Amino acid sequence: TLSDRLTSTFKNLRGKGRLSESDINATIRDIRLALIDADVATPVVREFTGRVRERALGAEVSGALNPAQQVVKIVNEELIAILGGQTRNLQLAKSGPTVIMLAGLQGSGKTTFAGKLARFLRDQGHFPVLVAADLQRPNAVTQLEVVGDRAGVPVFAPERGNIGGHDVVADDVEGTRSYGDPVWVAQAGVAQAKVRQYDVVIVDTAGRLAVDENLMQQARDIRDAIQPDEVLFVIDAMIGQAAIETALAFSEGVDFTGVVLSKLDGDARGGAALSVASVTGRPIMFSSTGEQVKDIEVFHPDRMASRILDMGDVLTLIEQAEKAFDKRQAAEMARKFMEEEDFTFDDFLQQMAAIKKMGNFKALLGMMPGMAGMKDQLNSLDEREFDRVEAMVRSMTPFERTHPKQINGSRRARIARGSGVSVSEVNQLLERFTQAQKMMRQMRRGGGMPGMPGMPG
Ligand code: GDP
Ligand code: MG
Repeated sequence: TLSDRLTSTFKNLRGKGRLSESDINATIRDIRLALIDADVATPVVREFTGRVRERALGAEVSGALNPAQQVVKIVNEELIAILGGQTRNLQLAKSGPTVIMLAGLQGSGKTTFAGKLARFLRDQGHFPVLVAADLQRPNAVTQLEVVGDRAGVPVFAPERGNIGGHDVVADDVEGTRSYGDPVWVAQAGVAQAKVRQYDVVIVDTAGRLAVDENLMQQARDIRDAIQPDEVLFVIDAMIGQAAIETALAFSEGVDFTGVVLSKLDGDARGGAALSVASVTGRPIMFSSTGEQVKDIEVFHPDRMASRILDMGDVLTLIEQAEKAFDKRQAAEMARKFMEEEDFTFDDFLQQMAAIKKMGNFKALLGMMPGMAGMKDQLNSLDEREFDRVEAMVRSMTPFERTHPKQINGSRRARIARGSGVSVSEVNQLLERFTQAQKMMRQMRRGGGMPGMPGMPG
């Protein structure tokens, strides 16, 4: 398995300090196989590994991880990013019922998913209704009725002329009343929902076994008639290499807003998710994991990434290694503080990294009570200056970082050249750093808390 392969790659690489091109290539070869195993479409694999390779080549050497782990970490982060990063929730209409249209090939799981989604929303306190606008297959309406029954959600079934037992109110619907016309049926369904005060309408539509221009036109007509808040494209997770072609056809055909990955309960590793997300840029919102009405899950990019990579264990290991490393660093910092050792530029870099990890620290600080009055100071705290400071520190030798007092004129000039700043900026940094060290010593005597030495601003 991939985990085994990577574990042996890790063994080979243990002890090496730097990401070399051949380390990266070896790991990426393993990752490529894993993606192909997971049925990610070939062009997507190629583009993806290319990007990872570029990022890995430019990566800083990490203290916590060995080179292979570092590449895996990058792969995982990139996967999560392509899969949408964060979980994307349904966009609910501000007024009137939220209209959700389902589209996809026949057999992809639309009708089954319609019931699951209805139940899911009902459980959240909504009042959903299902609309049977698939008039293509003879049994489609009956199937939706069965599904609705299981979900405990009413179905607008045009052939029956009722909606959950109510009479059809079709007077508000434009166009000729025609129970055989899926566009009219969809419109009537939405009109019904308004009149009866349902707050979500889920419109099931027809699909063919292959992409079909007539049905695509029908889906487009339905979309234009009901102006859905969401068009969800349902795709079978087992579709494999055909994912790209199908996804692009529906993306161009109906311009869906989100993706549902169905049949994820089988052997499918979910590579289709990556293919679809990568070529359409649309978020995956739900996965369908069985034939029962309860088998629906909100899609989580991070979980899917580890499923595609099939190495949850390795990822957990990486996480633990990083946590342990952070803890060691914090302990080291505390020790220095207690033992009255001076802070060095190495400590300083670590603190900067910790702050960066917290994300947008300005926004974070701004949200804290009592910080509103500090707005001006916050605004003068330019993140680009942060980067410049980091560049200067990185241009120092290890000796200089631990012996700031020894940084004389020629060393300053070299640091300035190496980091692309002026000598006076280096002077300023050193000045601030010395002051901060002094402050730390004073605080230690006074028993205060350590602050951020040398913070720009
Ligand atoms: P539609 O043609 O797109 O409406 O697809 P259906 O909802 O009729 O589903 C086609 C077949 O796939 C049916 O036999 C479903 O029971 C089955 N199916 C749908 N979703 C899932 C799923 O998540 N897991 C499994 N195992 N089967 C599913
Ligand atoms: Mg169907």
